[in-house]
Amino acid sequence: MEFAYDDQNIFAKILRGEIPNKTVFENAHALAFEDIEPQAPVHVLVIPKGSYVSLDHFARDASPEEQAGFMQAVAEVCRITQVDDGFRAISNARTHGVQDVPHFHMHIIGGTQLGRMLQK
Ligand code: 5GP
Repeated sequence: MEFAYDDQNIFAKILRGEIPNKTVFENAHALAFEDIEPQAPVHVLVIPKGSYVSLDHFARDASPEEQAGFMQAVAEVCRITQVDDGFRAISNARTHGVQDVPHFHMHIIGGTQLGRMLQK
């Protein structure tokens, strides 16, 4: 599988500071910010700072330090947003996954009772 990264995607622009964001947490390898169109009271996007298209790209090619930094950001987002009663982590990939922004991101969604994972 070849992963072609387009550095003109909206999250690349956020990482370069060309577009503002509401930052929830940041470390050396990841940035977490509020989704512009929240689907629940908590809806935060966690993205790596590296150029990865999707979860499978990140899991295959990111260094252990990048992967650890990303997971630390996920943990911090859960702590900061106080989703103690639970949350959902979603990462859409490519066409079947209906991914809109081609920079790997994890949605952290919570703050309310969510419905079933998938609608048939
Ligand atoms: P996807 O469909 O790729 O999994 O999710 C992309 C997400 O990015 C959507 O939930 C959408 O609301 C969010 N999004 C798109 N453009 C922007 C933006 O400019 N700023 C922020 N904060 N979120 C965005």
